[in-house]
Amino acid sequence: MNSTLVTFPGGRTRGRSTIVEAVPVGERHGLVVSETPFHPLDHTWPDQPADRGTIGGLPVADCVTGARSPEGEILLGADIPVRRGDEGWGWLVVHVTDSPLPVGAEVDLEVDAGYRAALSAGHTACHLAALALNAALAGRWRKETRPDSLGRPDFDQAAITSSRITPHGSVDVYRLGKSLRKKGFTADGLDPDKVALEVNDRLAAWVAADAPVRVEVPGPELTARRTWHCSLPEGEAAIPCGGTHVSRTGELAGVRVTLTLDDATLTMHTEGAG
Ligand SMILES: [Zn+2]
Repeated sequence: MNSTLVTFPGGRTRGRSTIVEAVPVGERHGLVVSETPFHPLDHTWPDQPADRGTIGGLPVADCVTGARSPEGEILLGADIPVRRGDEGWGWLVVHVTDSPLPVGAEVDLEVDAGYRAALSAGHTACHLAALALNAALAGRWRKETRPDSLGRPDFDQAAITSSRITPHGSVDVYRLGKSLRKKGFTADGLDPDKVALEVNDRLAAWVAADAPVRVEVPGPELTARRTWHCSLPEGEAAIPCGGTHVSRTGELAGVRVTLTLDDATLTMHTEGAG
């Protein structure tokens, strides 16, 4: 088997499948099934945390990405030396448990749906906040730069250094250094509170619009190139994304951001989504 088939992009939290492989994870056990609803932490861009839940009735202590090398060796998480989806490698969802289960066993997989829902709300809010931040900072670009899907200079893509999804929110860190200045962005006189006000006004309007959200899924494999879409009043927003989402922006009522500027680092905390 070259890739685990995944059902989480469509919002599934339950499934039944066969254990096809067991790999040691330190003292623990890494179980691979043919098809899973579990979202693993991505090793290349670890934004959305792993799902919680049970496999064959056993608690899933962690859920990580595994990659099978062309030589057949399975590496996990940070030990994977190639980027997500590298061809020639197999891509696996590895459910980590404290006790073993036999290869060949058919098992029920149950994701903690409440925790998943909180992460989905946080992830959709994260994307909307990024687009709203792009809009609020659009006037600060002096050179033409790559636009986002709504046609505004894509500050988020140009400056982001890390993104962490949390239950009902996210923390996004942006670097306003020399290289961003060279690309034409000026941070002179940037008032983070003023920018946050503008971001929050736009977020409130998008939540009020109750716009539909969906994940476009070109194939069932873990590393298929999926895209998040949101049909906002001002256009169709799209962002490449491997995570999970709510189905309408109206589910994010109460979301707001705070921004802090520390040296050349702009941090956006998004909270209270859903
Ligand atoms: Zn995403």
